[in-house]
Amino acid sequence: MDISSPHLSYRRMMSRLQSQLRIITIQLLAALDVWSSTQQSASRSNCIEGSSCWPPASSWAELNRTLHGHLVRSLPPAAPCHSSYFDADACSTARNNWENATWRAIQPGAYQDTAWENGDEPCYIDDTIEAPCQQGHVPYYTAVVGSVEDVQAAVKFARDNKLATRVKGASHDYLGRSSGSGTFSIQTINLKGIAFYDSFVPSGCRVSPQNAVTVAAGHHFTDVYKAADAHGRTVLGGATSSVGAAGGWALGGGHSFLSPQYGLGVDNILQFAVVTVDGRAQIANQCQNADLFWALRGGGGGLAVATSVTYKTYPAVKNLMTISLQATTNSDLYTPFLSTILSLLPAWSDYNISGYTYTAVRGTTATLFIPNSDGNIAKTNTSLAPIYQFAEAHPGEVNVSARFAVYPSIWVLYESGFAVEKVGLASVFGSRLFPRSAFESKAGTDKLAQHVADSGLFTLFLLVGGGKVNQPAPEAMAVNPSWRKALAHVVVTDAWRSNTSIADRNAIRRRITQGAQGLGNFAPGMGTYVNEADYNEPEWQKVFWGSNYPRLLEVKRKYDPTGILTCKKCVGDETFV
Ligand SMILES: Cc1cc2nc3c(=O)[nH]c(=O)nc-3n(C[C@H](O)[C@H](O)[C@H](O)COP(=O)(O)OP(=O)(O)OC[C@H]3O[C@@H](n4cnc5c(N)ncnc54)[C@H](O)[C@@H]3O)c2cc1C
Repeated sequence: MDISSPHLSYRRMMSRLQSQLRIITIQLLAALDVWSSTQQSASRSNCIEGSSCWPPASSWAELNRTLHGHLVRSLPPAAPCHSSYFDADACSTARNNWENATWRAIQPGAYQDTAWENGDEPCYIDDTIEAPCQQGHVPYYTAVVGSVEDVQAAVKFARDNKLATRVKGASHDYLGRSSGSGTFSIQTINLKGIAFYDSFVPSGCRVSPQNAVTVAAGHHFTDVYKAADAHGRTVLGGATSSVGAAGGWALGGGHSFLSPQYGLGVDNILQFAVVTVDGRAQIANQCQNADLFWALRGGGGGLAVATSVTYKTYPAVKNLMTISLQATTNSDLYTPFLSTILSLLPAWSDYNISGYTYTAVRGTTATLFIPNSDGNIAKTNTSLAPIYQFAEAHPGEVNVSARFAVYPSIWVLYESGFAVEKVGLASVFGSRLFPRSAFESKAGTDKLAQHVADSGLFTLFLLVGGGKVNQPAPEAMAVNPSWRKALAHVVVTDAWRSNTSIADRNAIRRRITQGAQGLGNFAPGMGTYVNEADYNEPEWQKVFWGSNYPRLLEVKRKYDPTGILTCKKCVGDETFV
């Protein structure tokens, strides 16, 4: 299958929508000139739409020419279904693709998590045509960059005009760091290119060559997994393959079911190509801009625009064993049953099992993986023995089924339809990293299981720590040092629909914040993984980056001294926004 063919058809749809949006842009530009000059400057250090500092229409038109017509007046993706922007074809395309992650990534105004698209302002796909459509968190203009030169032009424009600027990759962020009301957006999804090397040496370094792949910022992991398969190599990546392969995942840390074997995403990065706020295309690796290289590996977005990332590659994973576990219990047994599962995490990790356990009241689902397994299902089944024994001791009250499969490669697993996650709804996350010791005593897992049951929150135990994740020195790079002692990443999450009242949404947000703090009591001082965290996390600097935060802030001040690229809950947010 040609990797690019599905993208091409989406691109065609996209370019149709873009030209429609451009017409709207031109009509609005004239009005904007008058309107913007009457607005008061907002009390921010960087400029947002509606402020007197916002550039005049002529400047935007000039930028549009420089970008070969790829400056877009970005609107929420449901805009064509509402009277102010109505377009029957574009509306039908939006409806048909609402839950399609690739389509969402291409749209300048769409985000995978709609909590960061519209926020609480209306512009819903399931509403009537007459219902209002507001801008929400969608940036006002988007530079849809197609080359490093385009990125440089967009960054220089942002710097010269002191614009509050966001970088939008594959748009998966759970904290809204790639969107922002009134901002200027640089969308990287059209930066394409994947190149494999047998003997890659980071630019300017005198080190042994190694196997590597350079991935341009616009790729999803789907593209990378497929290309790696064709090259007989393994590249570490996100579980959901629509996640950006050289964007937020890499910048925030990046966990994978392969992490216990190969480390975090950041542990595998050899080099970044970036455009810094001064407009220069630069390399960051251990030999050039080493301070920026340190910061980009876990510091999140907001430091520079990454145009590509180079990762180590490994020999192809063979015999990827998966275990799909489904279990239900009656309410009385939920807590001891969950405690039994949690107490198995250290042993599973020692047996090389990684993966994801989801639990909601009375039900537990787990997808577990053993990369490069010996394919021996009977032997592996013994690692689940305590679960079966629990079920046997409570006949009729606990139902457990486990399905085993062995895949010849990671790509074959993905081709089978694995991990296609639903997007296009509003969700919130809260989380904590957990050390191995949290699962080592029965008293500890009993208490934790009771807490999960009492909270009533959908809780995910991601067994993606331990092993190689724990090996690098805690402050070797900017990622939260707690990863180096974490066995699991524990997440609470909830979602709402367009008809959920604002009061109910706020109640959900509060429950998630409380849920994350509650988890924190079981893992004191650990903090969490910034990419799957609560936007409302108090003390977010400490919780997301621990002792690395002061150094990160120094790097931020050096490379983005006026905070052009600062995003919400990103390094320097407290200073610049
Ligand atoms: C369905 C789903 C599944 C997920 N699965 C995993 C998983 O298995 N493992 C895991 O670790 N995480 C996972 N995540 C979390 C994921 O790592 C984060 O959401 C991450 O921020 C996504 O990056 P993105 O580029 O796709 O998103 P975006 O929203 O585009 O960007 C996220 C952040 O990165 C910045 N950014 C993006 N591209 C660039 C660039 N080129 N240069 C500079 N800054 C940039 C943005 O400005 C923003 O701050 C998942 C998220 C979702 C929604």
